[in-house]
Amino acid sequence: MRVLVIGSGGREHALCRSLKLDPQVSELHCAPGNPGVEEVATVHPVDPLDPGQVAELATRLRIDLVVVGPEAPLVAGVSDAVREAGIACFGPSSGAAMIEGSKAFAKEVMQAADVPTARSMTCTTEAEAAAALDEFGAPYVVKDDGLAAGKGVVVTTDRAEALAHARACDRVVIEEFLDGPEVSLFALCDGSTAVPLQLAQDFKRALDGDEGPNTGGMGAYTPLPWAPEGLTEQVMREVVHPTIAELGRRGLPYQGVLYVGLALTAKGPKVVEFNARFGDPETQVLLDRLETPLGGLLLACATGELGLDPVFRPGSAVTVVIASEGYPAAPVKGDVIRGLGATDDAYVLHAGTRRKDGEVVSDGGRVLNVVGHGPDQESARRAAYDLAGRIELRGSHHRTDIAR
Ligand code: AMP
Repeated sequence: MRVLVIGSGGREHALCRSLKLDPQVSELHCAPGNPGVEEVATVHPVDPLDPGQVAELATRLRIDLVVVGPEAPLVAGVSDAVREAGIACFGPSSGAAMIEGSKAFAKEVMQAADVPTARSMTCTTEAEAAAALDEFGAPYVVKDDGLAAGKGVVVTTDRAEALAHARACDRVVIEEFLDGPEVSLFALCDGSTAVPLQLAQDFKRALDGDEGPNTGGMGAYTPLPWAPEGLTEQVMREVVHPTIAELGRRGLPYQGVLYVGLALTAKGPKVVEFNARFGDPETQVLLDRLETPLGGLLLACATGELGLDPVFRPGSAVTVVIASEGYPAAPVKGDVIRGLGATDDAYVLHAGTRRKDGEVVSDGGRVLNVVGHGPDQESARRAAYDLAGRIELRGSHHRTDIAR
């Protein structure tokens, strides 16, 4: 099987690493990739947001399966163009990806499918927004309707700040605050059926103790030994199956991964958000533990032939994000990275890096992911932090309490 992965972050490095380990995968390509991806795949300088360019590359390389990593290419229609070229694609159509591309659409689908989520109102004027804020009360949750690269959501007790965010967006979803620990469940979907991966948790705040600003994610771990028994089955039954059935009814069969972000509230699990792609950094730990060969699994989703539930290795995996100086407000780029390597139980995945004069330099906010694994969470954690401690990047920072 010849596989082409679209994207250039830590998620795509993790996908490529696992695909490389699948004996069914004979050729692995990535566009545009990064210096870490280059070690396992052939990279191509193609614009991942250009559906025509991606389809042309896949055709030229005689690709059997395209795997789309990030949300922006999905919303831009890359999956549609690849399928039109007659090539199997893991990743929803642009229409189905609106489950992530529009929070208002996601809410409407959830309502129609009777999926448990926060009560909400979609607002386009300041007066509507003000009324919605007063309806739900503090803490206020205001979400930009469209894709905002993780910056679209404001959760605050300050009504003026909430209203200012609403004013800055064309359309917002204002919703009730959900109280409870957050977990992520990823479901692989083939258009009609879905199977779950393991539960994972990510750490969104920049600083230890869940302090500081929101980020794309500073670390993650799987499995969750504290999760209530039967949670995965409950979420599949109450959320995933009804959602993909509703999308199917609307002529938007969902092929790809449905990322369900949940809050475990006193009234049961409720959906905080849907994403139309693998979460980053949770994917790094999930794929570390996945035993079922990844290529065959993703191809089955793309061809509507999903079978048995994926199998996970026992033990735990922890990933720690090494972020650049100034992240998330104003990441500093271009610093040389040293100490990259691996140990028996930990390795590095590249996220925001590039090659310059033969050296690897930082090229984004989240620069590296250090993944550790072991028989239990504590050993996985130790493995990740031991390796993270060897990496030299001027001004970089990471959380010290991931999975603690
Ligand atoms: P989202 O982009 O929808 O995932 O929102 C980003 C983060 O904002 C989530 O991971 C939550 O931590 C927080 N958040 C979103 N919606 C709510 C809500 N209804 N109640 C509490 N926190 C929320």
